[in-house]
Amino acid sequence: MINVKGNTYYIPGHVCIGVYVQGSQCVLIDTGLDENAARKVLKELKQMDITPAVIINTHAHADHFGGNAFIQKRQNVIVCTSEKESVTAQYPIYEPFYLFSAAPLNEMKNKFFMASPSKVDEVIKTGKIQVGGFDLEVISLPGHSIDQIGIVTPDNILFCGDTLIGKHIIDKYSLPYIYDVEQQYNTLNYLKGTSYDGYVLAHGGLAEDISSEVEMNFQVMQEIEKYLLGCLQQPATREELLAMFVRDKGIHLTMIQYPLLSASLSAYLSYLANHNYIKYYFEQGKLYWQACQSI
Ligand SMILES: [Zn+2]
Repeated sequence: MINVKGNTYYIPGHVCIGVYVQGSQCVLIDTGLDENAARKVLKELKQMDITPAVIINTHAHADHFGGNAFIQKRQNVIVCTSEKESVTAQYPIYEPFYLFSAAPLNEMKNKFFMASPSKVDEVIKTGKIQVGGFDLEVISLPGHSIDQIGIVTPDNILFCGDTLIGKHIIDKYSLPYIYDVEQQYNTLNYLKGTSYDGYVLAHGGLAEDISSEVEMNFQVMQEIEKYLLGCLQQPATREELLAMFVRDKGIHLTMIQYPLLSASLSAYLSYLANHNYIKYYFEQGKLYWQACQSI
């Protein structure tokens, strides 16, 4: 467990789990992918004689709430999420459903897309909250997911979920998963104006320089926009765009990569079309996208 400041810690891992300690109890911010991740968390806490009293999930992607069920079975915890994320946390089928846009392939019902269901005890709103005797602040950070939240501890440390994607993830995946491009730009702009004493990225841990992280995330999104507008100088379907992207970035497609890429591309297409940068038309049973202006 790494101390960030005062009583604020995080447990490093594929997903860094926030821990805010008060006496012999703590709040957990996210719980990791599965039972194994949760087991590791409980073991670490036990070594320090701390019991979890509250779980807050930044958003309901499986790798952030997959450990909830295990912890709920063993500890008396209050689980909190934002309103819209509470739906997927309680009914995890929604994640592979929205990624596939219908009843998903059975092989998509894996732990990376479909966590064990979690009971949600409290739906939390933005602003200052008190839960289980802890005083925290919730901020809205939508874009990466529909209703992602960040949690500010009394030590003025922000746990920002997947709002900011570290460079190693971008290098690995080329197109980080995104739900809403417009909201993500707004969220990045908002973060730029904040001055917390520390920022913990779920994938990456404590950020050393928040403004450069924000800037890098802006740049990645703008490069993707530019790339797509370049490709769409010629009409292309979403499948064709995906194939171009996969070829250009040297991506190995799997039934994990494909739905994530395809959904993220859709997010850019709707953003570009809503801003009249691209238009669509149907021809011979295919939906084509095309840039409105030549570059
Ligand atoms: Zn996520």
